[in-house]
Amino acid sequence: MADRRSGHRWENWARDEACRPAVRLRPTTVGEVAASIESAAVAGRTVRVAGAGHSSNDSVLTDGTLLSLERMHRVLDLDRESGLVRVEAGITLHALSELLWDHGLALQNLGDIDVQSVAGAIATGTHGTGIALGNISARVAALELVLADGSALELSEASDPEAMRAARVGLGALGAVTAVTLRTVPSFVLDFTETSERLDAVLDSLDERVTASERFGFFTFPYTRTAMTRTANRVEGAPRTRTRGRAWFDDIFMTNHVYHAICRAGRARPSLVPGLNRLVGRLAGTTHRVDRSYLVLATPRRVPFTEMEWAVPRASTAAAVSAVLEMIERERFPVSFPLEVRFGAADDAFLSPAAGRETGYVTVHMFGGMEWEPFFRAVEETAAPFGARPHWGKRHFRTAGELRGLYPDWDRFAAVRERLDPDGRFENDYVRRMLGPHVGARAGTHA
Ligand SMILES: Cc1cc2nc3c(=O)[nH]c(=O)nc-3n(C[C@H](O)[C@H](O)[C@H](O)COP(=O)(O)OP(=O)(O)OC[C@H]3O[C@@H](n4cnc5c(N)ncnc54)[C@H](O)[C@@H]3O)c2cc1C
Repeated sequence: MADRRSGHRWENWARDEACRPAVRLRPTTVGEVAASIESAAVAGRTVRVAGAGHSSNDSVLTDGTLLSLERMHRVLDLDRESGLVRVEAGITLHALSELLWDHGLALQNLGDIDVQSVAGAIATGTHGTGIALGNISARVAALELVLADGSALELSEASDPEAMRAARVGLGALGAVTAVTLRTVPSFVLDFTETSERLDAVLDSLDERVTASERFGFFTFPYTRTAMTRTANRVEGAPRTRTRGRAWFDDIFMTNHVYHAICRAGRARPSLVPGLNRLVGRLAGTTHRVDRSYLVLATPRRVPFTEMEWAVPRASTAAAVSAVLEMIERERFPVSFPLEVRFGAADDAFLSPAAGRETGYVTVHMFGGMEWEPFFRAVEETAAPFGARPHWGKRHFRTAGELRGLYPDWDRFAAVRERLDPDGRFENDYVRRMLGPHVGARAGTHA
C-alpha cells in the first residue's frame, strides 16, 4: 500500500518553497501510482509528483495530492550491449551512476549535482556542459507514465513521436512518469582542470574554447574580472580517485564550509560583497583531477541558494554574460555567488530550453536568506533581448503568453497536453503560469 501522509508539509532543498498537500503518498508500484491518481480524481483533487525537491521554484507545490516516487528506485533492465537501461522514475542520478559503473556504463552527461531523481531531472531539461552533448532528457529512449484516468502509457519515438517529444521535458504536466529508459554510454574517465583566468580573455576566445574541449564551462564572480574555467576531456586509463580526506577538504571544507562563511559575511554586510568576491577570485587556484565521469562532474552543494538560469543562442553567450555582469555592477546588487556559464547541443524536445539551437546557459544565484527578487527581475530584463528561455526548475517571472513565442513547437506541446491531460489533473499554479489553462478550463467545462 502507498504510504499515506496527510497534511505533511513538503519543502524544497533550499527550504524557500513549501506546501501542505491534502494527501501525500509514496507509492511503490505502478498500480499504487494509478490508484492514487484515481482516488485524487474521485475527490476532485489535482496531483503533482515530487522528485528530489531540487528545483528552486514552485513547480512541485500543490494543495491536492502529492506523490513522491522515492521508493520506486529499482533498475528494471540493463542491456550492456545496446546501453539501454530502464529504471524506475525515483532513482537518483547518483545511485544510477554508481550502479552503471559496476556494469561498465555511464550517463553521458550530468549537471553540477547528481542527487536529483531521474524523472525530476528530465522534466525540467536538466543539463551539464559540452557543446556536442544534449541535456539528460535528450538521452531518453522511452518513458512510462500513468495518466489522469489511471491508465498506463508507454511512450517511445516509434509509438508516439509527438507525445514523446512533449513528455521528455514535460514539467510534470502530462502525467506521473513511473519509468525511464535511458541511452547510456560505455563508462569513461575524465581529465578535469579548473583554473583561474582573465575573464576578458575567456570571453574573447569563447567560441574556440567551447569546441576545443569535450566539456567547457566557467564561473565568474561579479566585481572581479576573473573566470574560473573548467575543462574536461575523456582519457584512457584508470581513475585516480582522491582519498576520502582530500575529497572532504576540497568538496566539503573549501567549497562549502569556507565559502559558506564568506557568503554569510556578505549577507551580514552587503557592502563587503565586491571585496569578498575579489578575495575569493585571488584565492582560487588550479585543480586537476582524473576520475570516474560522475565523480568529476557532480559535487556536493551545501551552501543554500536560489537560482535563475537563461538559455541563449550559443553565439550570444559572451554578450549576455557581459550584459548581466555590467548590470549587476551598475546596480550594485550584492551577489556573492558566481555566474555559471555552460553550453549544450540543440535538441528536439518541444519545451527543451535548447530546442532547435546550440545553447549557452547563463546561471545566476542568490545566497539563501538574501533578497533575490529585484536582482532576478533585473537579470530577466537584461537577458530577454537575447531570446532567453528559462530553466524550468529555476526561478523566473515569465508566463505562458510571453513564453510561447520562444519555442518553435510550443503549440505541439499544448496539443499533447490537451490529449493526455484534458482536465488539468496535473496542474498547479506553476503549470497554469507556465503553460496557460488547459483546454477544459478554456471551454469552461472544468473548475
Ligand atoms: C544545488 C543544485 C544544483 C543544480 N545543478 C543543476 C545543473 O547543473 N544543471 C541543471 O540543469 N539544473 C541544475 N539544478 C536544477 C535541478 O537539476 C532541477 O531543478 C531538477 O528538475 C531537480 O530534480 P528533482 O528530482 O529534485 O525534481 P523536483 O525539483 O522535485 O521536480 C522537478 C519537476 O519534475 C516533476 N517531476 C518529478 N518527478 C516526476 C515524475 N515521476 N513524474 C512527473 N513529474 C515529475 C515535478 O513535478 C517538477 O515539476 C540544480 C539544483 C540545485 C538545487
